[in-house]
Amino acid sequence: MKLRKVTAASAVVLALALSATACGSNDKKDEGSSGGGGKIKVGIKFDQPGLGQKTPQGYTGFDIDVAKYVAKKLGYDEGQIEWKESKSGDRETMLQRGDVDFIAATYSINPEREKKVDFAGPYLLAHQDVLIRADDDSIKSPADLNSKKLCSVTGSTSAQNVRDKLAPKADLQNYPTYSACLGGLQNKQIDALTTDDSILAGYASQEQFKGKFKLGGFKMTNENYGIGVKKGSDLKDKINKALEEMVADGSWKKAVEANFGPANYKYEPAPKIGDIKS
Ligand code: GLU
Repeated sequence: MKLRKVTAASAVVLALALSATACGSNDKKDEGSSGGGGKIKVGIKFDQPGLGQKTPQGYTGFDIDVAKYVAKKLGYDEGQIEWKESKSGDRETMLQRGDVDFIAATYSINPEREKKVDFAGPYLLAHQDVLIRADDDSIKSPADLNSKKLCSVTGSTSAQNVRDKLAPKADLQNYPTYSACLGGLQNKQIDALTTDDSILAGYASQEQFKGKFKLGGFKMTNENYGIGVKKGSDLKDKINKALEEMVADGSWKKAVEANFGPANYKYEPAPKIGDIKS
């Protein structure tokens, strides 16, 4: 009898605990599997044509299409997405602070970042390259960069790789965004802009730069794009599942063709989830 009473009491405690947990997770968007009437905050780039770009007509690019697909699978329609600019140097902090639920912004998976955030993916493999003036014949290999003025972006793997291994002697200038480097490249304040070939191809194909710039074609690194989430978030597994579905149902292919076709960017095949190329 006594035992039964204790058991009943624990059942009440357990039920209360369970309902408290359920309430808690209803409040937190990033744990629900359905958006309901809520919003999901997604970090993207605003100035990278073909990948993530804010235009008068709305947000466009491959990262946007991936983010929309993922958000849909998480239960959020396009209208429930709140887009936020996540510049290269701000991404880990934005996730850690909870400013965004996930980031799809040419965000390479690497061990350093994995100490601070988690990644789903990869969903695209790109390679670091250089964008130079079309009439510049002095940069024929990555080693030639050592005597040049290079522009890249604070907090990017592109800048880090230049310093660590690609061209440690280069005069490297770090700007807040890649688009900020373009003017300097045009008016010869800098000799080359270095980052992922996917991004550079987008700039080179812009109407205002047609014929002015070219890519080196050096494939200096592997950049495995992942979707960043807060460390320990259960969104990672859900997003991995969504990315797998995106490839399986043909949406990934459609998105790469639509977004990289205009820049004539030769994208790599869809990577397998968890297959990070070093
Ligand atoms: N994918 C590289 C990175 O994550 C370069 C592009 C970027 O800065 O977004 O740092």
